[in-house]
This record gives sequence, structure tokens and C-alpha cells, in this order.
Amino acid sequence: MKVPFFDLTFMHSEIATELLSALERVLLSNQFILGPEVEALERELALYSGAKHAVGLSSGTDALLVALMAAGVGSGQEVITTPFTFFATAGCIARLGARPVFADIDPATFNLDPGAVAAVFEERSRKAGRPPSALVVVHLFGQCCDMDPILSEASRRGAAVVEDAAQAVGSRYKERHAGTFGAAGTFSFFPTKNLGGLGDGGMLLTSLPEVYEKSRMLRSHGSRTRYLHEIVGGNFRLDPLQAAALRVKLKRLNAWTEMRRKNARIYRALFAEQDTHGRVILPRESEDTFHTYHQFVVRVVNRESVRKRLGEKGIGTEVYYPRPLHLQPCFADLGYRKGSLPNAERACEEVLALPIFPGLGEEEQEAVVQALVECVKEA
Ligand SMILES: *Cc1c(COP(=O)(O)O)cnc(C)c1O
Repeated sequence: MKVPFFDLTFMHSEIATELLSALERVLLSNQFILGPEVEALERELALYSGAKHAVGLSSGTDALLVALMAAGVGSGQEVITTPFTFFATAGCIARLGARPVFADIDPATFNLDPGAVAAVFEERSRKAGRPPSALVVVHLFGQCCDMDPILSEASRRGAAVVEDAAQAVGSRYKERHAGTFGAAGTFSFFPTKNLGGLGDGGMLLTSLPEVYEKSRMLRSHGSRTRYLHEIVGGNFRLDPLQAAALRVKLKRLNAWTEMRRKNARIYRALFAEQDTHGRVILPRESEDTFHTYHQFVVRVVNRESVRKRLGEKGIGTEVYYPRPLHLQPCFADLGYRKGSLPNAERACEEVLALPIFPGLGEEEQEAVVQALVECVKEA
């Protein structure tokens, strides 16, 4: 049985008529830049997450860039983040002339380890004479970071917290939504994300009036009044066609999240019936979090050969992420080496994401587990 890694057919067929009429509504409105659809999505997503404000932006990457700018990150500053994430997290820090400083991850959750974050704050405060000015946490694969110790350390050091919640719309930590803990939190609407658009898009959440005002200015070249530019921004606007489609999808988000969570439970039950000789390590769901399973990521030994064999059997998988950010060529001058952040490096060698999308069938999950168990025994 062939199983794709990801497929939108089920989700889009559920809402095809509604999607088309939403797009038609925008077409007939003749408003293609900002306007009522974007404002409505902002209101709805702020309400959904429990943030005071939301700002529609052109992508998850741009949302992160705007969040960092609005939080005051700039040239010469240091910003702590994780090396085990999509490139944009650290890319945005570097684009602002700031320096990414990496703290290692907790191998059980793949998220920033609060102890490592505290150690990096301590080390940089000593060596640089002042603590890093901000911290970007990433709620990876749909599971929130352990926010309590991280927030108290950041607050003790006077550092602003920005949350990259690109993979965590609807995820919660102690009943509070991802994206509402720091000065700002950001979502991505990349089509494969849990709330995906029909192209690029992003959103910034904040409850701070000054961050809200500044983000809105930044997305339109730093201006509130036409042709009056108070700060230097860019064109970072979410477009109304995307907003209209996303409003349709937001109504289905909780149902689709439950399908992802159910698929995760089915995987756990299926793997529990198998003897994998410890060769497949399942992801840990921590008690304080509501996991939305953007990805279901296992660890396997000999990952590359396992993945190749799975591909030959028609089972789609992905690797998030094969190379940690501290070992990317563009960050060579930051001075990290192989061995600097061992937990992240090991994760990059072992992780394998299995299909988990809403619409995935139970027989398909059985085929994935069967094939994986055979492949890890052979590899
Ligand atoms: C997807 C993603 C981004 C970037 O979002 P885009 O909308 O593709 O720009 C940033 N950070 C993380 C962790 C992501 O998964």
C-alpha cells in the first residue's frame, strides 16, 4: 500500500464549495490589499488564541522578522534560540544584524531545554558583559516549550521573548495558547502547516499595544498615514484572498487537530503491539501541553537507509531537520563546531517524520508501522 507523507485532498474536499465562495466574495469586493477579510481573520484568530491583537502578515518568516523588529531586536544584539528548527528562526535574527546564540534542546521533546537556556544566559552575560537582549522559542512539531522556567529566566535577564509558533497554532501549555506568552508570537500559513493557506501567509499575535501598533506600521513601510514614514518597514501584508480561505479553514481547525491527535494515539497503539527492539523511539507528549501533532516524529537508528527502504515500499516520510542551524555554512563565522550542541546534532541524525495528516486512514497507518518495523530490522 502506498502512503503519501502529506495530502490536502480530504481537507479541501470537505470545504471546496465554501472555499470557492469565499474566494468569489473577495473577487467581487475588488479589495485585494488588506481590508475586511484580513481584519476579520485577525479578530477571529486573536479570539481563538486568547491574544488581544493579531496582525496579518505575508508569511511566517515575515511575521517573525516583524515580531523581532517590534520587540526592539537590532544590530549588535545577541538573541538566544534553538539550533533544531526551520532556518527562518535564526535567519530573521541574522537579517536584523543581531547574532543568533544557540542553546541545546531537550532530547525528549526536541524543544529548547530550559536548563541550557539558563546556562547560555549566564555564559553570555559573563563573556559579553550583558545578557542577550531577546530569546526566540520555537514550539516544534506542535508541542509547546516548557514555558514557566524559560519565561522566568528571560524576565530575570530583562530579555524579550518572541515565540515562533509556526507549527503550533492551537497548541497549549497549561491551557494557554502558543503565541500568547511572549511580547509577540507568530504563525505560518504555509500550505502544509496545521492552518495552511492557498499560498504564503502569516500572523503575529500580541497583547502589548506598542508591539501591535509597531507591527501594523512595519507591514506597510513603517507608515500609519500615507506617504509619512515614521520607521523603516517593508511590504509584509497578508492578502485578502488568503485571509478569506483561512477563515473557512479556521472553522475546521479544531476538528482537524482532533484527527491528528487521534492518528497519534493510533500510532502509539500500533507500535505498542510490535517488538521494535528499541529501534523506534516514539515522541514524548509532555503533561503540561496540548500537542497538536503538526508532525509525528520518531527516532530511528540508520535513519537514511530506513528512509530509503520505506520510500521503496511506497511510504512517504520527511526529515525535519537534517542539519542543525549552528552547522549551516552561512553561520560558520559564529564559531560553533560539530559537538557544540550534541542533543540537536543527534536529533538531526535520527529523526523521521511519519504521515499524520487529517484524512490518513487507519489501514494506511498500519501499513506505515508494518513497513517501518520491517525496515528497522533490516537496516
Ligand atoms: C514554516 C516555519 C517558518 C516559516 O514560515 P513561512 O510561512 O514558510 O515563511 C518559521 N519557523 C518554523 C519553525 C516553521 O516551521
